[in-house]
Amino acid sequence: MIIGSHVSFSKEELLGSAKEAVEYGANTFMIYTGAPQNTIRKEISSDLTRKAHEYMKNNGIDIQNVIAHAPYIVNLANKENLDKWHFGIDFITNECHRCETLGIKYLVLHPGSAVNHTKEEALNNIKEALKIILEDNSKTTILLETMALKGTEVGSLEDLKFLLDLNSERLGVCLDTCHLNDAGYNLSNYDELISIIKETIGLERVHCIHLNDSKNTCGSHKDRHENLGYGTIGYDNILKIATKEEFKSIPKILETPYIINTKTQKKEYPPYKFEIEGLKNKEFVENLASKVSDYFNK
Ligand SMILES: [Zn+2]
Repeated sequence: MIIGSHVSFSKEELLGSAKEAVEYGANTFMIYTGAPQNTIRKEISSDLTRKAHEYMKNNGIDIQNVIAHAPYIVNLANKENLDKWHFGIDFITNECHRCETLGIKYLVLHPGSAVNHTKEEALNNIKEALKIILEDNSKTTILLETMALKGTEVGSLEDLKFLLDLNSERLGVCLDTCHLNDAGYNLSNYDELISIIKETIGLERVHCIHLNDSKNTCGSHKDRHENLGYGTIGYDNILKIATKEEFKSIPKILETPYIINTKTQKKEYPPYKFEIEGLKNKEFVENLASKVSDYFNK
């Protein structure tokens, strides 16, 4: 199983990220190359990148499986402010180059939200933006993420199918189990899910899976992640996606919520070490919150 979680990039850049992943028992990880909620980016240190690659090699992490995520404020669907739209295009183009500098092959991107456009216009705007981004000489593959369809978000499997017909080798898909559930796909029927994926985007286009449970019911259009087995998708359905043949060689990334430190009442403790161990053993982690807080409080 190729399994990891979202980790920080702010301490020693990629080297710090890799060290954090190893603490969780992971063999891959996902980073934002700067803050997820803004587009401020500082120059990447070649020294730390070199050290990170060496560290990963010594700790069983194949850089080919490591994922970067673009900040979620970039909205290529919205063309109301042309300067902003072009800024988004330039930013993603640069982000592809930053990934290459880090040796990372995949960049996950939220397709966008229509805001005041129709859905059709939004999809055409994204397609046009992607076309420009893909004309650049970067080798980074952009993975369009399936979205919960909250508000005016686009990003159903059918929407992604429309975008993928740009027919670029540099375009793929990241499935998010919470988002698929919230968008209305029934994850309790694995075979049906596989056939929908085959009919729309095609299995070969899936290069990453965000493995999250959901706080809300199927079709709720909410997007609130839950710890594995504690939400409405359920552990068995998540385990199938994590372990079945179709997705075996694909990196799976946890973006499940942190656990509350009862002393500070803040979500401070990452659950990933325990959730990863559970997945490896194919076993639901009971009393996750107390196990995690005991571990960090000792
Ligand atoms: Zn995402």
